[in-house]
Amino acid sequence: MSSVLDLVREDLRAFSGYASARTQALEGEVWLNANEAPWPNPGDADGQCRRYPAPQPPALQARLAALYGVDTSRLLIGRGSDEAIDLLVRALCVPGRDAVLATPPVFGMYAVSARLQGAPFVEVPLHDTVDGFALDVAAVRESALARSARLVFLCSPSNPTGGLVPLADVAALATALDGRALVVVDEAYVEFADAPSATTRLDAHVNLVVLRTLSKAHGLAAARIGVAIGDPALIAVLRCCQAPYPVPTPCAELALAGLADAALAQTRTRVAQTIAERDALAAALAVTPGVRRVYPSAGNFLLVRFVDASRAFAALLAAGIVVRDQRAAPGLDDALRITVGTPAQNARVIEALQALEIAA
Ligand code: PMP
Repeated sequence: MSSVLDLVREDLRAFSGYASARTQALEGEVWLNANEAPWPNPGDADGQCRRYPAPQPPALQARLAALYGVDTSRLLIGRGSDEAIDLLVRALCVPGRDAVLATPPVFGMYAVSARLQGAPFVEVPLHDTVDGFALDVAAVRESALARSARLVFLCSPSNPTGGLVPLADVAALATALDGRALVVVDEAYVEFADAPSATTRLDAHVNLVVLRTLSKAHGLAAARIGVAIGDPALIAVLRCCQAPYPVPTPCAELALAGLADAALAQTRTRVAQTIAERDALAAALAVTPGVRRVYPSAGNFLLVRFVDASRAFAALLAAGIVVRDQRAAPGLDDALRITVGTPAQNARVIEALQALEIAA
């Protein structure tokens, strides 16, 4: 195994980032080193926002590390996994030289971050098989090597296809790309999957990073808390590339409350309920006239092909139901992505689509 620092931009390997007022661990009672106000804002009832936050709030760091079963040195907290994606691209890719590889149809932020960094973007499409969309491991490996990819984004469960990348494939790619590229497994939806996290493979591969978020299963999308989990040396580099105080105190407090034992127990119940609803919705959609195909999903959403997707989208909208239009995505010109809602919301989806066919 090579050092993960070999994959970091040469000009950033010794970069120490911004030294903020919270970077140095100083002891004191009177804090006059950050030009903060001496009095709280009247709108800040308990005064928790008067002072800048710790760059990585220790209590939240410890809780997230325990949740994901990793050491805190492996974990970077950021503003959603969106920020982690962006930091990885910025820290690893020299503009115009080092490519980012992704496997469409897939979450759009990998391409956006590559574009912003001026990194070439390499696409290796998933294969549409009888079992759903699947990764072409050999094609990913060959393209990554041939096109100088520094980052390979695998999304598992994948958005919008719902498919899983087997951990054996993740491991095979990490091994084949050791010293050449970082393999990033975006597990935004893994709580809804019956599959282990790629964090279980971190000890075997320095060039493996896992992204997790509180935005989906934990119901905290607006708190903007996501993490990158990887080799401690890489995490330290990403921290130096990150904004000085990336975790707002109210968000950290909310996340801690949302990860308390009782809250976690409720989240687990909700996840189980969502999985049951997903499977019921998939079964109901499969026998709904006008539906061409429902893909198997390990996420909290379903990718659905329609005989006339534009009519289905309009009918759902007319019924007050907003779903994600996938028709601009390559190979998905007849598809919509439907998030699994409450039982009542899911029933409305089926009702609206059935009404459409009766009217036809
Ligand atoms: N990864 C995937 C696959 C997603 O679908 C999303 C959000 N739609 C994200 C990452 C970003 O999540 P967040 O920034 O809220 O953590």
